[in-house]
Amino acid sequence: MAEKPQPVRVLYCAVCSLPAEYCEFGPDFEKCKPWLIENAPDIYPDLIKGVKEEADKVANQLKTTGISSGAGDGAATSAPKQEEVKRLPGGKVKKKAKQEVVIEKVIRNKRKCITTVKGLELFGVKLTDASKKLGKKFATGASVVKGPTEKEQIDVQGDIAYDVVEFITDTWPDVSESSIFFIEDGRKVPAA
Ligand SMILES: [Zn+2]
Repeated sequence: MAEKPQPVRVLYCAVCSLPAEYCEFGPDFEKCKPWLIENAPDIYPDLIKGVKEEADKVANQLKTTGISSGAGDGAATSAPKQEEVKRLPGGKVKKKAKQEVVIEKVIRNKRKCITTVKGLELFGVKLTDASKKLGKKFATGASVVKGPTEKEQIDVQGDIAYDVVEFITDTWPDVSESSIFFIEDGRKVPAA
């Protein structure tokens, strides 16, 4: 009757596409339940007792729409869980870090604007130091934070995008204007 539990395999929920053990934290656990009972009885043993008859009906309809992820076979059982859920926007991972500074204006909460500065560390600049200097120069808040790719960047409160180039080249002469770029409408444009 029941499938034999295979604890190491990472099973993805066909309903919410999270790893099955994350369904309860997912957007709609209720909808996941029938699928889980059918496909992941060992992960949510409690479900089976309560909702069995009702679930059987639904589960038959939902029957496995091809979840054949053979991934994660030899992987350690503890670590990879978090990585499964985390995905980079666009999925790209840059291997070689080109030496350049990238500045982007980000609007948060409609009115709040932040200017992000990435890449100064590639020129040997200490980010905490740079963050202090930027905050002081523009009389605003600035902090070193982890960006979407886990790399550190500086977030400066307010729109300082066009004044920041001169400040950077003045303060850190190793950074030439030609190696500074803006992100505008998702495209990288040279500052020079
Ligand atoms: Zn789910």
